[in-house]
Amino acid sequence: MTATEATCRHLVLVLGDQLCADSAAFDGFDPAQDAVLMVEARDESTHVWSHKARTTLFLSAMRHFAAALAERGYRVIYRRLDEHGDASLSAGWHAAVTALRPQMLVCVEPGDWRVWQALNALSADLHITVDVRADRHFMCSRDEFAAWAGDSKSLRMEFFYRNMRRQHRVLMNGKEPVGGRWNFDAENRRGFGRDGPGFVPEPPLFETDAITRDVMSVVEREFADHPGSLAHFNWPVTRAQALVALQRFIDDRLPAFGPFQDAMWSGMTFGCHSLLSTSLNLKLLNPREVIAAAEAAWQARKLDLAGVEGFIRQVLGWREFIRGVYYLDMPGLRDANHFGHRNALPQWYWTADTGMNCMRQCVGQTLEHGYAHHIQRLMVTGMFGVLAEISPQRVADWYLAVYVDAVDWVELPNTAGMALFANGGRFTSKPYVASGAYVKRMSNYCDGCRYRPDTRTGPNACPMTTLYWRFLIRHEAEFAGNPRTALMVRNLARLSEEERNLIAADGERMLANLDGL
Ligand SMILES: Cc1cc2nc3c(=O)[nH]c(=O)nc-3n(C[C@H](O)[C@H](O)[C@H](O)COP(=O)(O)OP(=O)(O)OC[C@H]3O[C@@H](n4cnc5c(N)ncnc54)[C@H](O)[C@@H]3O)c2cc1C
Ligand code: SF4
Repeated sequence: MTATEATCRHLVLVLGDQLCADSAAFDGFDPAQDAVLMVEARDESTHVWSHKARTTLFLSAMRHFAAALAERGYRVIYRRLDEHGDASLSAGWHAAVTALRPQMLVCVEPGDWRVWQALNALSADLHITVDVRADRHFMCSRDEFAAWAGDSKSLRMEFFYRNMRRQHRVLMNGKEPVGGRWNFDAENRRGFGRDGPGFVPEPPLFETDAITRDVMSVVEREFADHPGSLAHFNWPVTRAQALVALQRFIDDRLPAFGPFQDAMWSGMTFGCHSLLSTSLNLKLLNPREVIAAAEAAWQARKLDLAGVEGFIRQVLGWREFIRGVYYLDMPGLRDANHFGHRNALPQWYWTADTGMNCMRQCVGQTLEHGYAHHIQRLMVTGMFGVLAEISPQRVADWYLAVYVDAVDWVELPNTAGMALFANGGRFTSKPYVASGAYVKRMSNYCDGCRYRPDTRTGPNACPMTTLYWRFLIRHEAEFAGNPRTALMVRNLARLSEEERNLIAADGERMLANLDGL
């Protein structure tokens, strides 16, 4: 072999969130001529200050996947963090490509805009062709989504979702939705009431095997000062475990998921949520099999349609919609800041050390488990972000850092678009804001809090409430002038001038000392 001769035909790049053996990246893979490259890069954990559980999940799942490919007889070049210490994916790719001199690189389209840019740069730098293949994990391709969106300024998930139901024949009765309705949201928004959640089935426990233990020690050593704990690490790291997680959810928690999906309770970390986002996002599970399992359980066990529809809506509707929006709106979405918010993230987002019990609970379980459910993210940590005028980019970086399921394509539109209204309502009709009364209705957090949810001003005033009213006052003209938001500010008419001034003054005081709340 001469120095310039290729040592492999195709080098298949597999990213940390592409752990699917049926991926298009392996179409035409010839073990005799081709190889797989996987890189553990340091800056994937440091470009945002990643939770230890997030890094552990990615690295452990990657190592398990590499081992499974090797068992199939594939040649896998795996660059471990503790052996190669590649600063970035690009650095690892450069080193491997230079050593292997493949004829061509093969990759499935990356989920993350930043990684796309790195891949394009690699191709240009090394003058090598990269065959980027569509990601067939998703049920709606990027082109299909772009065609659906057309040049509409405002996009609505509900209409997209109905198309997806028709197209994929999910919960359909001929041309009509089963049960005669598309949407059961009103039935799926119950709180637990004074008695609390009662018995909630536990998610399955997964063994921490030698690979995961090894990764944990690497993470504890290399990222010692990073946030979060590994004490409760229990996320599926293989497809087999992900299938167990799916089955246990369908068997045990799906029946109660629907009505209580928005409810929160002190000390209750997972509720009846599926905990499937990590397995879906790493591609250990396919959304089609998740949806089919829920629909089959509804039919076989005569489960409540509203609850099952509520779950399928999340996977077939929101997840696919969010991914479509991400590609449509990047890179602009990253810098979107409709309200021009500039405040820094309070320090207690990293410690949970705050007097606001709702934030203490949601941030606390996030640091312990890398998990909070949708309403905790949207209507507690996210809502506080918009009311406290925190920079959307700082908030988005936090979400990307602390959740085990966080990948840019799903985190950023949810944070900037849904929680913070940073894109001015591209796919939400109005900002998701409410006073402490909402938190009180949907949880028992306010019982253990030094603030009073129904108090707008004074020493016991709830920051959610004061800042909510301040937010409405501040944006009164904008909201009143738009039919979609006019209702939000109608109640301001009930406030006296004096009360408005008190809210403004107390709100300013809170904003000036966010760390002290
Ligand atoms: C500010 C903010 C940031 C978020 N960041 C992420 C993120 O980084 N990664 C992530 O996967 N989800 C994110 N979400 C969406 C949602 O909160 C999580 O998918 C969900 O909490 C994961 O827990 P689960 O698997 O138990 O979900 P369940 O409540 O059981 O829902 C079932 C599945 O539906 C999908 N899903 C539900 N809601 C959404 C949504 N809004 N967007 C996309 N998919 C959805 C997920 O795949 C989830 O596993 C974010 C939401 C908000 C408001
Ligand atoms: S009183 Fe306000 S700050 Fe305290 S838990 Fe309730 S909503 Fe949160």
